[in-house]
This record gives sequence, structure tokens and C-alpha cells, in this order.
Amino acid sequence: MDCIFCKIIAGEIPSNKVYEDDQILAFRDINPQAPVHVLIIPKTHIACADEITEANSAIVAHIFSKIPMIAKEAGANNGYRVITNCGEDGAQTVKHLHFHILGGKKLSEQMA
Ligand code: 5GP
Ligand code: ZN
Repeated sequence: MDCIFCKIIAGEIPSNKVYEDDQILAFRDINPQAPVHVLIIPKTHIACADEITEANSAIVAHIFSKIPMIAKEAGANNGYRVITNCGEDGAQTVKHLHFHILGGKKLSEQMA
């Protein structure tokens, strides 16, 4: 499959890893929008939030259970924002479910 994030999981594209376990990978965004900008992805290919179901949603709970540790490990020690973009109007560019962790500064109150 021609998916950049699946290639990062497979080690075919290098990434600056922050955290990894058997189910998820967290790495620094290549084009950071804040001093701390980490992406967290499931190792199974899920296209976006539209494809989260009762059957696969445990991975989302797992990701959120690791977010506090990953955010602090990455340097967001004073709070952070979690974003997932989905589809055309969500301006999703990589079609593999990912959660942006943004922090390291006081973020704008504007979200869109
Ligand atoms: P989206 O707009 O789909 O929510 O965000 C995709 C994110 O992936 C963007 O912030 C973009 O900078 C990041 N990204 C795209 N390709 C790569 C890559 O090869 N490596 C890393 N580390 N980040 C990437
Ligand atoms: Zn993928």
C-alpha cells in the first residue's frame, strides 16, 4: 500500500521516534507547527476517524492512555492540544489515522 505512515512503521522511511510499542508509534512531525509537534499513529492501517468502529476502537483508547506520557516526553510540560484531521474539509493530507500533539508554547484559541 502506498501509505507514508505504513512505510514509517515498516522502517522504510526514517522518523524521529518519541515512543513505540507493539500497537502504536509516536514521532516528530517533519513540518512542525509548534515547538512540540508529535504524531501518534496506530500500527494497523486505519484511514481516518471515519473508519473507527466498535471493533477497532481499542487502539484509540490505547493511544489516549499513552498521550500524557508521550506529550511530556516530547517536551510539552505545560499542556497540549490533540488534533485529528479527517477527510477533505478536515484538510487531512496523510490517509492513515494520526493524532497531532501540539505544545511547547501557548497555542492560539483559534482552532479553524
Ligand atoms: P494531516 O494534515 O494529514 O493531519 O497531517 C499530516 C502530517 O504529517 C503533516 O503535519 C505533515 O507535516 C506530516 N508528515 C507528512 N509526511 C511526513 C513524513 O514523511 N515524516 C514525518 N515525520 N511527518 C510527515
Ligand atoms: Zn498506512
